[in-house]
Amino acid sequence: MALHLRPNCEYCDKDLPANSVEARICSYECTFCADCAERLLKNVCPNCGGGFTPRPIRPAREWRAGLSLTARPASTKRVRLSWTREEIAAFVRDIAAIPPQDR
Ligand SMILES: [Zn+2]
Ligand SMILES: [Zn+2]
Repeated sequence: MALHLRPNCEYCDKDLPANSVEARICSYECTFCADCAERLLKNVCPNCGGGFTPRPIRPAREWRAGLSLTARPASTKRVRLSWTREEIAAFVRDIAAIPPQDR
């Protein structure tokens, strides 16, 4: 089991390579850039309503046998949200004021 390390922001489609420090994920690995996660989505995942955390960076170098970006490559399947921007805005408006631990 390992994170999928999705290649793009599901909202704005910005590239988020495996070593990006801008990638944010929810507990289901829904992936967004920091700008969308913070400014547009206000720490509300449009898919599940959960909050975000910075995505950990998988080491490029094989420090331990079989564990590296080469051994366990990032996903290349781009993912986009199926909600409209209006639907997302309404969802965020309803949820953003509730801290993630109380949602
Ligand atoms: Zn984005
Ligand atoms: Zn989510």
